[in-house]
Amino acid sequence: MSRTKKLQIIPLGGLGEIGKNMTVIRYNQEILVIDAGLSFPDEDMLGIDLVIPDYSYLLENKEMVSAILITHGHEDHIGALPYLLKDLNVPVYGTKLTIGIIKARLEEANVKKATLIEIKAGDSIKLGTLKVEFINGSHSIPDSLGLAIHTPLGTIVHTGDFKLDHTPVSGDILDIHKYSELGYKGVLFLLSDSTNVERPGFTKSERTVGENIDQVFFNAKGRIIFATFASNIHRLQQAITAAVKYDRKVAAAGRSIVNVINIAAELGYLYTVPNTLFPSTANTGCWSNMPSWRRILEYRRKISLSPK
Ligand SMILES: [Zn+2]
Repeated sequence: MSRTKKLQIIPLGGLGEIGKNMTVIRYNQEILVIDAGLSFPDEDMLGIDLVIPDYSYLLENKEMVSAILITHGHEDHIGALPYLLKDLNVPVYGTKLTIGIIKARLEEANVKKATLIEIKAGDSIKLGTLKVEFINGSHSIPDSLGLAIHTPLGTIVHTGDFKLDHTPVSGDILDIHKYSELGYKGVLFLLSDSTNVERPGFTKSERTVGENIDQVFFNAKGRIIFATFASNIHRLQQAITAAVKYDRKVAAAGRSIVNVINIAAELGYLYTVPNTLFPSTANTGCWSNMPSWRRILEYRRKISLSPK
């Protein structure tokens, strides 16, 4: 390989650990950054709220960095952005929901000068000599992406976090066809990550969780306390769907979950009906977009019509 054509993949975090995902792709004098996440402190890191990758390499090569590509809106992929963007103001690419979540984070951190560019799966962009294709993913947060980065030396595929779920809650099906097409054409390097990938077998579809949630709501007599990752919008959706079905009210407790519900409902990723959520949380009534809504309405009408 001649010195003028050099491709480097430099992980700044996220390898052999959970959290602070950040990978640098460098082709000659051009740098792309994939994700900028945080991790949470170990129990021996007293007084530390969060941990971010050491990105001094990027600051040393500031003028080469053309973009930050974000695969999805989880903290371990976006959490370092408020810090990084203060030191290095380059465009950030992500899907609608991811950008929505990033915007809220940056506002909280008082970062005003960010260039956030919304893209969608299927788009491709040219950044200098490099071409990036965005591939639909399937993950515990909607709007996740995989990336194909075409360089003059070959294609790098970065899957982002993913789960092979054939019946996902939101219809986000991993674009396996795109991956097979890329494989057919030839991939120089594959970066692939999925939690518990070492364990044999399959993970059940997220939809099966919904059936269990439904059962709990059906059987519960009193108040239900439901715990989930704030960003797991699919699971929140399944809980809200059950709440609507069984005529219950939902109150979200915690700053993060209230933020996520508001952002997701506003951008059309979470469906609810008026008066289901308590006033501190979203109440957008955009549920009518959801196909199963009519079924639930009919179900509720039947219950109210049926003799007691
Ligand atoms: Zn993730």
